[in-house]
Order: sequence, then structure tokens, then C-alpha cells
Amino acid sequence: MNNKIPYKIYLKENEIPTQWYNVRADMKNKPAPLLNPGTLEPMTFDELRPVFCDELVKQELDDTTPYFDIPDEIVDFYKMYRPSPLVRAYFLEKELDTPAKIYYKFEGNNTSGSHKLNSAIAQAYYAKKQGLKGVTTETGAGQWGTALSMACSYFDLDCIVYMVKCSYEQKPFRREVMRTYGASVTPSPSDTTNVGKKILEEFPGTTGSLGCAISEAVEAATSKEGYRYVLGSVLSQVLLHQSIIGLESKIALDKYDIKPDMIIGCAGGGSNLGGLISPFMGEKLRGEADYQFIAAEPASCPSLTRGVYAYDFCDTGMVCPLAKMYTLGSGFIPSANHAGGLRYHGMSSVLSQLYDDKLIEARSVEQTNVFAAAQRFARVEGILPAPESSHAISVAIDEALKCKETGEEKTILFGLTGTGYFDMVAYGAYNDGTMSDYIPTDEELQKGFDSLPNVNL
Ligand SMILES: *Cc1c(COP(=O)(O)O)cnc(C)c1O
Repeated sequence: MNNKIPYKIYLKENEIPTQWYNVRADMKNKPAPLLNPGTLEPMTFDELRPVFCDELVKQELDDTTPYFDIPDEIVDFYKMYRPSPLVRAYFLEKELDTPAKIYYKFEGNNTSGSHKLNSAIAQAYYAKKQGLKGVTTETGAGQWGTALSMACSYFDLDCIVYMVKCSYEQKPFRREVMRTYGASVTPSPSDTTNVGKKILEEFPGTTGSLGCAISEAVEAATSKEGYRYVLGSVLSQVLLHQSIIGLESKIALDKYDIKPDMIIGCAGGGSNLGGLISPFMGEKLRGEADYQFIAAEPASCPSLTRGVYAYDFCDTGMVCPLAKMYTLGSGFIPSANHAGGLRYHGMSSVLSQLYDDKLIEARSVEQTNVFAAAQRFARVEGILPAPESSHAISVAIDEALKCKETGEEKTILFGLTGTGYFDMVAYGAYNDGTMSDYIPTDEELQKGFDSLPNVNL
């Protein structure tokens, strides 16, 4: 490699950004506000306070402040695993024989194995600062619960995790990581909450869903003194915290005068993609530069590419505020797609608005293609990617191969959100050739749309 751009571009510790960037401040069309499901009026600070920590409510409701200082305690924690490397994928480029230049920002270099720790530590910090005893949350595949349990143990906070029952049973290792960090993990639905009991009565034997676990975690937080609920994706505050990914990427690229043409990320609730693109999107919104942004989502849970832009419930129990987003309907039950982190019915309201304004594009990718891309990537770049992250790899490879056809030397940046060590059952199915692709029919999607609340004019 006698190229002047190193394989890994590392920043120095003192180059870690000390402010998060809030892309909403530069959006002309602001994301639609959260609505109170009873009054259909925008949720106020006082209405959100019983659920979320005060400082996080302020961040959630702030559409105008462009930069937020990152408290020193959080920067100190970031130093344990950040800055994360920006890697030039020389080996993948060679494998694809493409003139495209490919870079990826790798967020899997921490024990939780994903970018989720960037927001978990911020949310735990504000809970501690407010003098709370603990936080409650849900986890699907387990990455968020793992990240939060690490963050809570750092600040000595109680961490109560409702884990979707099928994951609780199928992913005992994630469960044990959380318990090792001191979290208590309850399979959801459970009989520890009223909403859980109701769901169990109605659907005995159900293996749960993310929407149902959210309802239980919110009830647990609001019915216990000194507890608040925290969420690992979708919310605007989470995108704000994840802007650290994009800010670091931009500093590293600027050092070598590299300007990406295209930025790609996988999209579940939208937090890593939103965080990665934020500073670049800010430049685009202010008319300073132009980039192409692409969201990669599973064909089995296609909220952007086949969803509708409407107010919807964030959870199954309908206890949360209504959010306007690209959604498949809270009643949509995705098939057992292996990329657990991408199985949410809705999408961040920030990304939804940007998508509706045609500032970002979206592609849906089928599961076997995703694993083919994951395997190809692992064999040349060495990292074993998470299935979620591999959606972005798949789209990046497609784009690099298009460059091969046209001869264009585009610069592609994608987010590699995490590692896949806990997903070896899925890799096994791919290796055995037993993995299948599931794409919902229009009729199946209609059932989800029929569950939309009746507030959309
Ligand atoms: C949770 C998760 C995602 C998806 O969440 P976003 O909020 O859309 O970023 C992607 N990759 C990994 C590794 C995850 O754990």
C-alpha cells in the first residue's frame, strides 16, 4: 500500500469532538412534533418529564440549537473506545476491482459491539446527574440493552431491561453480558406490568415484539419512583448523540482533503445513519456542499421504501406519544429477519422529514444478499460485520460495482455499525444455504397500515 492515505485514519484523543451537532437546527422543514395521543397537541416539556430525564427532554424538543456541549464526563468515557477508526477499504476495492474509493467508519470496537454506546452513556449520564435511581428500557436483539448496561454500571445506576422474549430465549449470551454488567433482564411480555399482562391474556404464547417491550419499559419507569425510560434509537436526542460518528468522520476526511460523493448507512430507527450524515447534511442544507445520502433497510421491514408518512404509535401498547414518521404501522409484525436491530416498524422523524424532502434516498436489500455482502467483506477486510451493518455494506458494494461499469471514481463512505459475533446462528443459516428471503406482500403491509391511528388528515 504505497498510497498516501493510510489504511486507518485515526484521530488523536484530543481531537474527539466536544460538541454534538443538531441537524434539526439547519432543517427548513422541521420534523413534525411528538403528539399527546389524548389531546393530539404537541407534547410539552412537562408532559414528557415523567417519562424521560429533564435534560434529554430539552434536547428532544430543541429544533433550533445547532451545537450542544458534550459534558466532560461523557467525553472521558468516549475516550475508552473513541475516536473510532475511519478505514479505507483498500482490500474490498481490490476484491471488487472498482475505481471507487471506499471508506467505512467502524463503530464495533467496544464490548457492546455497536454504535449504541455513544447514546447509552449520554442517557445514563443525564439520569445520574438528575439524581435518579435507575432507568428502564427495552431491547430486541440485545445490542442496546448491552450498551445501556455498560453505561449504567459506569455511573452506578440501576438498569432494568425488557428483552423481547424470542431474543431472550434465542440469545442467552447477550442476556448474560447484560447481567454481568449488573442489569436485570426480564423477558417481554411479562407479568411484571399491566400492559404485559394484558398482552399475555390477549395473545398467550406470544414471543413478544419491540413495540410490546417498549410499552412495558415505559410503564415500569413511570410507576417506579426515581426511574425514567430511555430509548436507543428513533428519538431526535439519540440522533444528536450519534452525531459524534459523523463529526469524527468529517474531521478525519478533512485531514486528507477527502470529500465523499455518497454516504450510506443502515437504517433501523435511523440513529446511526442520522448521526453519520448529520454534519454532511448540515452542509447540504446550508448550501455549502452536496452529497448523496442512502439509507439501507431490509426488504422484510421496508419502512422508508414502502411505508407511509403518517402519525403513528411508537409502541404496541399505545402508551407512548404519537410520532410522525415513515411507518409500516405499529401493528406490523416483521418476519423473523435476522437483523434484529432493523426490525422496527417506524423511522426517526428527523430522517423521515429529510426523506420526504428528497434529501436522502433509500434502498431495500434482501437478507441473502446482505449475508453474501457480509461474507465477502469479512473475507477481505477481516472484520466480522453485524447483520444490520451488512445492509450498508451490501449497498456500498452495489454502488462500487456501478462505478466499475461507468468508470467513475466516486468516493463512498459507509457506516459499519458493529460486529456480528452474537449473530452466528444467522451466519450458520447462510452458510448452510437454509436462509430465505421474505418480502411482505402489499396485502400484508395493508394490515399494518390499517392499524394507524385515526389522526392523519
Ligand atoms: C441497533 C443497530 C442498528 C440499527 O439502529 P439505528 O438506530 O437505525 O442505527 C444498526 N446496526 C447495529 C449494529 C445495531 O446494533
